[in-house]
Amino acid sequence: MLDLLLPQRCLGCSRPGTQLCDSCRATLPRLRPPLCDRCGAPTAWPVARCRECAGRRLAFASARAAVAYEGAARRLAASWKERGLRRLAALAAELVTEAVPRPAVSALVSVPPDGGRSRRRGHDPPAQLARELAERWELEVVDALVRARPLARQRGLGLAERRRNVAGAFAPRIRAPAWVALVDDVYTSGSTAAAAASALRSAGARRVEVVTFARAIRYPPR
Ligand SMILES: [Zn+2]
Ligand SMILES: [Zn+2]
Repeated sequence: MLDLLLPQRCLGCSRPGTQLCDSCRATLPRLRPPLCDRCGAPTAWPVARCRECAGRRLAFASARAAVAYEGAARRLAASWKERGLRRLAALAAELVTEAVPRPAVSALVSVPPDGGRSRRRGHDPPAQLARELAERWELEVVDALVRARPLARQRGLGLAERRRNVAGAFAPRIRAPAWVALVDDVYTSGSTAAAAASALRSAGARRVEVVTFARAIRYPPR
């Protein structure tokens, strides 16, 4: 209901009438191959592992995202987190399905919210995105994970600190599907995805793929 009452303005240029106008949509920083096969970082040529993920123990088999976490895509993610609008979840899902092939899995699991501001407002973008993607990909959503403990803020932490901060942050609620895709709104350092994937693996998942709307770009390819 609230979605209908709020006036729509383009998240890219503030032009009224639509959540993302055609010209801003055309300029979204979409992620296209070549990518790192494992973590999905854009690379100059296809690689199995890249500068960003080499040597890291990652519990997921691959991570893919629709757009770089920049510009209008970053504003969309922020506004979505802030207001929880379903139409933004639907737009994000549409952009994901345009960029990411349907994963060969039997179910989707969203990364559980961290008890921060978005949780208090009842907004859960990862769960919204999982539902929207499940509809489009004809998969089921399984509520398989919980937060095992509250998390210190990830923002402002270095990579190693982020990893320590999220290690053991998630616990399985039920036995996980064997082939599963983990859904989150933004992939920043990969630490959250790796920790959540690790909890799924401990609960019986044999292969975990990660799908997010946006992805931070640490090393832009030259
Ligand atoms: Zn615009
Ligand atoms: Zn990589």
